[in-house]
Amino acid sequence: MSENAIFPGDKIASIEEYEAGYNTFDDGDMVRAATIGEKDIDKSSRIANVKHPKALSIPRVGDVVIGSVAAVMSSMIAVTIEFINGNPTTSKVECVCSTRNIRKKNVALVNDIVTLKIVNHLNGTIHATISEPELGVLFTKCRKCGKKVVQMRDAVKCIECSWIDDRKLSTNFGKNDFISLRG
Ligand SMILES: [Zn+2]
Repeated sequence: MSENAIFPGDKIASIEEYEAGYNTFDDGDMVRAATIGEKDIDKSSRIANVKHPKALSIPRVGDVVIGSVAAVMSSMIAVTIEFINGNPTTSKVECVCSTRNIRKKNVALVNDIVTLKIVNHLNGTIHATISEPELGVLFTKCRKCGKKVVQMRDAVKCIECSWIDDRKLSTNFGKNDFISLRG
């Protein structure tokens, strides 16, 4: 967290100068934090707020995230973010990733673990890309029988039923054990 990080009960401002805003309370003397977070003082409206960590764990442009695929649509996937730059996050924010330019029939499946890079925030939606070599699927299963798959060049093959399928694989596919992420 930044240098503005504060903890419940921390003094944020004097009530003579500021009103208690979001995630704060007024103890009759001081505005204090009601939650862990980041101090957010609005000097123009004279309101002292605390931004909750949920807001702090929204990835920024350029961040590399790892998450599980929540939905697969015709030209994009929606991903629930679990890690931002390698740090676990509990806020479970979602990003969307265009798959329009990826020449794969099955870029990723629901519940696959993927790594993406954040490219922009547009209209309240976080957009990511999967188009770089290290980006893509880190963990997937067989689409037919749900069993383990192994990489075969740029495709995957089921060790159980031998079904061969395509994915947009990360160059790090198979290097980590992400099964534990899935509970
Ligand atoms: Zn299979």
